[in-house]
Amino acid sequence: MASDQQLTVCVIGAGLSGLSAAYDLGRQGYRVVVLESESFIGGLASSVEVDERPIERFYHFICGDDHDLIDLVDELGLGDKLHWEPSKTKFYYNGKLYGFGTPFDLLRFSAVPFLQRIRFGLNVIASRYTNSWEKLDKVGAKSWLIQQIGQQAYNVIWDPLLRVKFGEYHDRVSAAWIWHRIYRVAKSRRRLWEPEYFGYLERGSETVIEALAEKLRGMPNAELRTNARVKQIHSANGRVTGITLINGDEHIPCDAVVSTVALPVLLKVTPDLPSSYREKLSQVDYLGVVCGLLKLKQPITQSFWVNINDPNIPFNGIIEYSNLNKHMNLGGKSVAYIPYYLRTSAPRYSYSDERLMDEFIDGIHRVNPDFDPSWIEEWHISRAPYAQAICTVGFADLVPDHQTPLTGLYITDSTQFYPEDRTISAAIRMGRRVAGMIIEKSS
Ligand SMILES: Cc1cc2nc3c(=O)[nH]c(=O)nc-3n(C[C@H](O)[C@H](O)[C@H](O)COP(=O)(O)OP(=O)(O)OC[C@H]3O[C@@H](n4cnc5c(N)ncnc54)[C@H](O)[C@@H]3O)c2cc1C
Repeated sequence: MASDQQLTVCVIGAGLSGLSAAYDLGRQGYRVVVLESESFIGGLASSVEVDERPIERFYHFICGDDHDLIDLVDELGLGDKLHWEPSKTKFYYNGKLYGFGTPFDLLRFSAVPFLQRIRFGLNVIASRYTNSWEKLDKVGAKSWLIQQIGQQAYNVIWDPLLRVKFGEYHDRVSAAWIWHRIYRVAKSRRRLWEPEYFGYLERGSETVIEALAEKLRGMPNAELRTNARVKQIHSANGRVTGITLINGDEHIPCDAVVSTVALPVLLKVTPDLPSSYREKLSQVDYLGVVCGLLKLKQPITQSFWVNINDPNIPFNGIIEYSNLNKHMNLGGKSVAYIPYYLRTSAPRYSYSDERLMDEFIDGIHRVNPDFDPSWIEEWHISRAPYAQAICTVGFADLVPDHQTPLTGLYITDSTQFYPEDRTISAAIRMGRRVAGMIIEKSS
C-alpha cells in the first residue's frame, strides 16, 4: 500500500463492479468493506438455485470485444471455463420463424424487401468499422436506422429489438446506443460470412463472482458482508467520513466510498450532495426489468435468441440459454429466459408471477405450436428496478464522472457505460477504474 496508514474503503454493492473494485483495493492493502443489501452477492449477475444448481436470474452472453471480463477471467485462472459458440438467432415474424444468424440468412429474410436486406448488412459492416459515436448521440436511433436501412427493415428487425430493451421508450433512444450494440455484436463475428460467436462461462457469471468473493474472503484486510443495506453516506467539510447501515444503525468510519448502486439509490443515501449535482443526476431515468426463467423438459426452439415481432405476443424475445451454454449438462432439457423492460410504475411490473407465466405460456405456444405447458418443470420470475438507464438523444451530457463533488466518494453506474450496452465486462471495467483512481490519489 502506498500510504503508511491503512485507509478504509467502503464499497456499496457486491455486484461485479463492487467486487472488482474491492478485489483491486484489497490486493493493494487497503482495508475494504463490501456492503451488500441482499442476502446474496452478484447483483444483476446473481443466480438462483434451479434443480440444485446455480442459474443466473438474467441471461448473460459475452462478446469478443468484452476485454475487461476476458482479462479478469484469465487473471483469476479461469480461462478454461470460458467458451465460445456460434450464436443461433431467429426471427419470429408473421407467424413464421426465420433464420437470422449469417449473411446468407439475411439474404433469405423475405420479411424485408431485398434492397433493404442489403442496406441492413451494409449498416452492420459500416458500424463495425466506425469508432466515433459523438455525432450519433445527438440523433435518434429510429430516424438514423430508417435512413440507413429503410422503413420496413426497421419495423421488422430493429423495432422489436429496441422494444425488448426500452419498452415504451424504444423510439427515444439515441443512435449512439444502437450503434454500439451493432458494433459489439458485429465484433463477435470472426469472418463476415460466419455467424457471431458468443461466449459463456461454465457456471454463468457465478464462476467469476465466486472467484472474486473467494479472493476477498482470503484477504485479512477485506470484509464481504451481505444483508448490509447502506442507509446513509456521511461527510464533513466536503469529505466522506463514513456510512451507516440500516440494520441497527451501525456506523462504519471510512476514508473513501465506492458506490456501485443506481443513481436514484445514491441520491437517497447521500443527502450531502450539492443540489446542482443532485439535479443533474435526477435527470437520468431508468427502466425496470421483469424476467421469466423457465426450466423445460425439452427445448422450445434450437436457437439461442429468438426475436419476436408479433402484436399478439406481449414480449419481444425468448433467450434459450441452454442452446448457447453447452456445459449446463441438463440431459436434453432446456433453460429459457423471457425478459421485458418497463417502468416500475407500470401495472405489468407488479403483475403476479402466475399471471406473467400465463402470458409467457401463451406466447411460447404461438412461437412453437407443439409446446405444452407440461414441458415446464420449474420457473422463477425476477425483477430489478434499475435494470437499464433510458439512453435518450443527448444522453452523453447526463453521464456523471466517477469522482463526485464529495471528496472520497466515487461512483460507478451503468450510465457511465454509455454508449455501450449494459454488460458485466463494463461493470468490471468501471469497478477497476475507480479502484485505480483511489489508489492513485492516495499514493
Ligand atoms: C435482463 C438483463 C440481461 C443482461 N444481459 C447481459 C448480457 O447478456 N451480457 C452482459 O455482459 N451483461 C448483461 N447484463 C448486464 C449485467 O448484468 C450488468 O451490467 C452487471 O451485472 C452490473 O453490475 P454492477 O455491479 O454494476 O451492478 P449491480 O449488479 O446492480 O450491483 C449493485 C449491487 O448493489 C446492491 N445495493 C443496492 N442498494 C444497496 C444499498 N443501499 N446498500 C448496499 N447494497 C446495495 C444491489 O443489491 C446489487 O447487488 C444484463 C442485465 C439484465 C438486467
